[in-house]
Amino acid sequence: MNPELLRQLPSVDQLLETPAAADLISSYGRPATVQALREVLDASRQAIRADRAAPISPAELLGAAEEALQVMVASTLRPAINATGVIIHTNLGRAPLSQLALQAIAGAAADYSTLEYDLGLGRRGSRSVHAQRLLTQITGAEAATVVNNNAAAVLLTLAALTRGREVIISRGQLVEIGGGFRIPDVMARSGAALVEIGTTNRTHLRDYEEAISEETAAILVAHHSNFRIVGFTAEAALNDLGLLARERGILLLHDLGSGALLDTAAYGLAHEPTVSESLAAGADVTCFSGDKLLGGPQAGIIVGRRDLIAQIGQHPLARAVRPDKLCLAGLSATLLHYVKDEATREVPVWRMISTLPGDLKRTARRWSRRLGRAGLSARVVPGESTVGGGSLPGATLPTWLVAIQHPQPDSLTARLRAAETPVIGRIEDDQLLLDPRTVLPEQERALLSTVLSAATQNGAEEQR
Ligand SMILES: *Cc1c(COP(=O)(O)O)cnc(C)c1O
Repeated sequence: MNPELLRQLPSVDQLLETPAAADLISSYGRPATVQALREVLDASRQAIRADRAAPISPAELLGAAEEALQVMVASTLRPAINATGVIIHTNLGRAPLSQLALQAIAGAAADYSTLEYDLGLGRRGSRSVHAQRLLTQITGAEAATVVNNNAAAVLLTLAALTRGREVIISRGQLVEIGGGFRIPDVMARSGAALVEIGTTNRTHLRDYEEAISEETAAILVAHHSNFRIVGFTAEAALNDLGLLARERGILLLHDLGSGALLDTAAYGLAHEPTVSESLAAGADVTCFSGDKLLGGPQAGIIVGRRDLIAQIGQHPLARAVRPDKLCLAGLSATLLHYVKDEATREVPVWRMISTLPGDLKRTARRWSRRLGRAGLSARVVPGESTVGGGSLPGATLPTWLVAIQHPQPDSLTARLRAAETPVIGRIEDDQLLLDPRTVLPEQERALLSTVLSAATQNGAEEQR
């Protein structure tokens, strides 16, 4: 160790008197600046004691402090470009919202609102009225309520309607949805007693019939979500379960997962059961997510019989899982697109699902020409997009991809992730694949410039 170096280090107070420190204080505030300088000085002292190189001059120390302050204020929740072709990508924030939904959220955020204020009566109102009117109109349900997410909707529904009694569920539906959310665990937390019937691949109507007892409160049907059972399989039809539940005086509860309000089959996909179909088949209560196929903000939506929805709303847990005003504003605006029959135009998730392959090919060609002119090896190739979000497992939509050859695909994707607006694509056969289907039109320029600068950073030098 060289003690002379330690003596050369300035004090925090000396550094604070410099003009550069004054700039830092005006950008980041005094407490954070002082803390950053202390940490930088500590790090230098330790490095000197260990005979390692360290910033010593005031300019170097202030530079290191500025870097630390930049990291401190950098947002970890940032906009990203989803070029994966997975439309409802849970890790990338699920559904991007419509313009109208964004405006509604900004309005509710900036101003006071009638969140719980009844303008007609001039006194306290209910926050559940806002989405209820639209939801009942769209789905034909008697009543509706909104909670924080669909996991909360399942938990609350079971807690309010089946606590202390038995709930029958097929073994084929005891799934883990992702992020550790397991249907059986949630059921157990609700206080309901789980009665598993059938086998993983086959459950028949008679399995349900035989399991119903005095203790039975409900049959729960849960969407398989991201999981598909193929081969020798059987499941009881929802219609039959609706009739059975009615006949035996128990409830039929349906966790629909995605909650399609439009028919996916109209877009070349498999048919995903819709909310109206679930109710028409006899479900007493149906719940689904707000940010999957519905294309709105994170929410859990519960629709069904008026008396049951009222019972759910009065349960103490309802307060713990209630939605905030931004969610309700964004959800109502999104639902309005369905009421006005303009969802495929206005709701980004549905716009992406309904984009025609020819349009995707045109976009892919434009990108590949632009990248090609800059010297990248980019081709347009056919591929497949997926819906994601636990809906339609295994179903794909034909698309056109831009395939980029690069000597080091892994370092290319790392640079794309490190960009100001990160670009997330996929790697297949050592090529970077970009799917135009999930890239919002206003992100196209950022996407191309990010890909160009990431691919030419040192990749181009290596190619030469
Ligand atoms: C996604 C999903 C859930 C959880 O919904 P969140 O809104 O993510 O809480 C519950 N059940 C099923 C069947 C799902 O697909």
